Amino acid sequence: MALTFELARTNREQFGIEAIHALGQQSLHGAQLWNHTVREGTRRWHRPLHLSVNEDSWVSHGNAASGAIVLGAQPMAPAEKRRLIFREERFPYPREIAYRLLHEIVHFYFAMAEDDATPAVQGLVAAVSEVRGQYGGQRGLSALGSMPFYSGHHKLIEDATELMTMFTWDPAYFSEYCQFLADPAYEGVRHSNGLATIYQPDALHEIVAATVEPALH
Ligand SMILES: [Zn+2]
Repeated sequence: MALTFELARTNREQFGIEAIHALGQQSLHGAQLWNHTVREGTRRWHRPLHLSVNEDSWVSHGNAASGAIVLGAQPMAPAEKRRLIFREERFPYPREIAYRLLHEIVHFYFAMAEDDATPAVQGLVAAVSEVRGQYGGQRGLSALGSMPFYSGHHKLIEDATELMTMFTWDPAYFSEYCQFLADPAYEGVRHSNGLATIYQPDALHEIVAATVEPALH
């Protein structure tokens, strides 16, 4: 069945099933991280993952301790999508939904890695924190983390989660993003989207890769 907004309005449960299916079709690493996190999270928190769908918003929520993800099914408005999704023209609605679902499961994966204080995730948090600190919190490594509804540590969590999501979606896509952050030609775009300028794109790629590699099997 096609993953459409109309489906979310008529059959939320089926929409959730189709969203997971779309993630599996669109992203090999996304499917691997999903399976890993559902399995490990269920074991750790003694609760199965519960996915529900909210057709009244595009904003999604996740709560690792309760195992609940609420996936917002509304299409993002074009201006939001342009700001928040790198190369948004490659994300027609079904891919947009699969990508946003992946972002939520990466939050769970990040929560587990933070609990475990894994050196890779600590290294990433230190990196996003250092960069945001250079801009007084206003610019960082993700446009999402620069949105005004996040503050303080939540900006860092969104930066780290979004970087891990981009890598997991497709490492080549994430490479493009790292190059974009470093390219002087895009300083104006970065500034208006709350994005930092970096000087070592390959180093960022490596830092992020190390955080998700344990889930990719
Ligand atoms: Zn998030």
